[in-house]
Amino acid sequence: MTEEEKKPKSEETDKMDILESTQTVIKNALAQLGYPDELYELLKEPLRMLTVRIPVKMDDGSTRVFTGYRAQHNDAVGPTKGGVRFHPNVTEKEMKALSIWMSLKTGIIDLPYGGSKGGIVCDPRKMSHQELERLSRGYIRAVSQIIGPTKDIPAPEIFTNSQVMAWMLDEYSKIREFDSPRFITGKPLPLGGSHGREFATAKGVAICIEQAARKKGLRMDETKIAIQGFGNAGSYLAKYLFDKGAKIVGVADAHGALHDPDGLDIDYLLDRRDSFGSVTNLFKNRMTNQEVLEIDCDILVPAAIENQITEKNVSDIQASIVVEAASGSITLAATEVLFNNDILLVPDVLASTGGVTVSYFEWVQNNQGYYWTEEEVEQKLEQVISEAFENVYRLSSMRKIDMRLAAYVAGVRKMAEASRYRGWV
Ligand code: GLU
Repeated sequence: MTEEEKKPKSEETDKMDILESTQTVIKNALAQLGYPDELYELLKEPLRMLTVRIPVKMDDGSTRVFTGYRAQHNDAVGPTKGGVRFHPNVTEKEMKALSIWMSLKTGIIDLPYGGSKGGIVCDPRKMSHQELERLSRGYIRAVSQIIGPTKDIPAPEIFTNSQVMAWMLDEYSKIREFDSPRFITGKPLPLGGSHGREFATAKGVAICIEQAARKKGLRMDETKIAIQGFGNAGSYLAKYLFDKGAKIVGVADAHGALHDPDGLDIDYLLDRRDSFGSVTNLFKNRMTNQEVLEIDCDILVPAAIENQITEKNVSDIQASIVVEAASGSITLAATEVLFNNDILLVPDVLASTGGVTVSYFEWVQNNQGYYWTEEEVEQKLEQVISEAFENVYRLSSMRKIDMRLAAYVAGVRKMAEASRYRGWV
């Protein structure tokens, strides 16, 4: 019997297959809009999928060959846009699903882009700086034919950062023989990066939280919030909301969770965090990072990993708002239960649009060669995300559908119309 077959059936069915669940919701969204089945056939998979093999000289003199991908979902609206992920669990199927998500995100916030996603199967935590540089440059050489400032624009993703973007930019400039900062976003400021890009993703989540609270008539300074995940996004969020006067009653990291009904001192916790970002292991009376999902609070933010809220635990949630900061953390079955229980869900494809929005701002600034202040970027980000939230919320109330399906309806509409105008279907 394989490991897969040994798993209990309930565990399997409860976990989402990321591509299949994305396709299911796309199908439902197209049905809401009354589009023909041909559109689903077009949109259920990326238009292009490139698999590359990247040989890299390692520090010990050996050569390792890495596998990389670039999935371009749909370019009917404009060039495709999406990050490059470095992670041992990267798969072709995941790349396909994530490229579709990027199309949805750019649709939800109405950017002139389609979606794409790239990735390399590797563990950057076990590689030296020099090895990572050679891998980043190798990836760009391998995919250079299909990317470019008006074709497909890469960006940071899990385990890639502005330094990786800088190497990629430098390699691309060599291949194309001219400097082209607008071919990639998430760059360091001296290479044409934008103010506000670093915290854009977390800021986008924070804006969604504030919008959702307003809808439920909650004031930030009288709101109890639990956050599962204390990494970059989770800790930024905790600090942001704490500074706004919210009571952060629970935080969780990989080791466990802390709970205080009177509110935790986030400044103290941030101060005590070790270099891996862990803090809960310092305390005796901690709970598990699953239990934190069920504590008494108004807003629950899963900001850690996938499949955290499933059919099994969704009925134990006490919050009236759930904001899905970590992609795929709530299953489709759990989404339905939240909707039936009148709990407001802000789905991942809406909550995680801050990064790509500021990437778009970066590309616009590169195109015009005129740069904005941090305040300008923040103000524009606030406007774009708030409008997107309002639009999805309105669609959900009007059509009496859950916010995930409403976000997909908003995300798929322009791409579907553009594909039809072009005569593709
Ligand atoms: N990787 C981020 C995302 O998934 C950012 C993409 C971008 O900035 O283009 O939204």
